Amino acid sequence: MQKISMVDLKSQYEKIKPEVDKAISDVINSTSFINGPAVKEFQSALEKYLGVKHVITCANGTDALQISMMALGLKHGDEVIAPSFTFIATAEVIALLGLTPVLVDVDPGTFNISPEAILRAITPRTKAIVPVHLFGQTADMDAIMEIAREHNLFVIEDACQSIGSDYLNSENVWKKSGTIGHIGCTSFFPSKNLGCYGDGGAIFTNDDQLALKIRSVANHGMTVRYYHDDIGVNSRLDSIQAAVLNVKLKHLDEYAHARQQVAAAYDNAFKDQPELTIPARFKRSTHVFHQYTLLVKGIDRNKLPEFLATKDIPAMIYYPVPIHMQKAYIDPRYQPGDFPVTEQLCHSVVSLPMHTEMDAEQIKHITSSVLEYLGITRK
Ligand SMILES: *Cc1c(COP(=O)(O)O)cnc(C)c1O
Repeated sequence: MQKISMVDLKSQYEKIKPEVDKAISDVINSTSFINGPAVKEFQSALEKYLGVKHVITCANGTDALQISMMALGLKHGDEVIAPSFTFIATAEVIALLGLTPVLVDVDPGTFNISPEAILRAITPRTKAIVPVHLFGQTADMDAIMEIAREHNLFVIEDACQSIGSDYLNSENVWKKSGTIGHIGCTSFFPSKNLGCYGDGGAIFTNDDQLALKIRSVANHGMTVRYYHDDIGVNSRLDSIQAAVLNVKLKHLDEYAHARQQVAAAYDNAFKDQPELTIPARFKRSTHVFHQYTLLVKGIDRNKLPEFLATKDIPAMIYYPVPIHMQKAYIDPRYQPGDFPVTEQLCHSVVSLPMHTEMDAEQIKHITSSVLEYLGITRK
């Protein structure tokens, strides 16, 4: 059996190697390393795939979030609502821009931001909501957009883990994750569902004015060369990464399908185990399984990855510490116990290997090892 990894980028590359190698060497031969044709081609291809008017590429997903908040003109003291259970980047950029992160709890089933909790957190200073489509499933965007309309707030979707996920809105129209709010952000970090071979990110919007502003902010606040209308940043997707993404975008749906097959096999193996809860599916969203995350109860969560390691199976805890309990984010506004769902999740989640190249033998080894651990701990 081939060695199991959380994400197997090597086997995936081997299948598309001729195409990727050619795309990369074409860029090198053209020496159009920055803003070359590959970047424009990728932006258009992604616009088409997502059904969105504007895709603006940038250097990474964290920049995508930061540029979005800058383009919206959010100012010092403005409050931005974000989930307490997420990767740190979401809250980090809010804090970095001198905005006030207002954390709210998540839904215990889908792990996504709770619309009721958002409503309770709104104050006259609230300017934006950043739902994170965690682990590959779109949050309850109808409820979130409704709240945003009522309270005149911007919605920036953090779709770094959910690219390709489909969301069925209240008008029964399927929308791509990240194209429902005012702005959507994604990351092309290599292990993401659409990963390049370095760093990359993108911002999506249907708003023409906002698109111009985003382009300007991402490019030193400049629309006409050497005339700076905004204070911006320098954040670009380079042409080599765009060339890789042009190849991989064509496979994105097939990659999502491969992940869903692994998830189905995991579900099947674990659904009747009293100590395990398989990932809940939100009825309005497809799940593209950036991660497959189990909840464990009645057993020592931390010993499960240790046991799996003895069988050469990696497993990860996403995420071990809620944002409000992270050292850099300790804030007198928040105490341990304030976000009970998040805190419970941090104690009970475990993510299993999930990627596009898993074979039946590997899946069998993983599921039988998890079941073996349950058997041992029950004795
Ligand atoms: C990966 C990720 C980011 C940041 O993306 P980078 O490209 O690593 O900067 C932001 N938010 C979430 C939820 C992520 O998973």
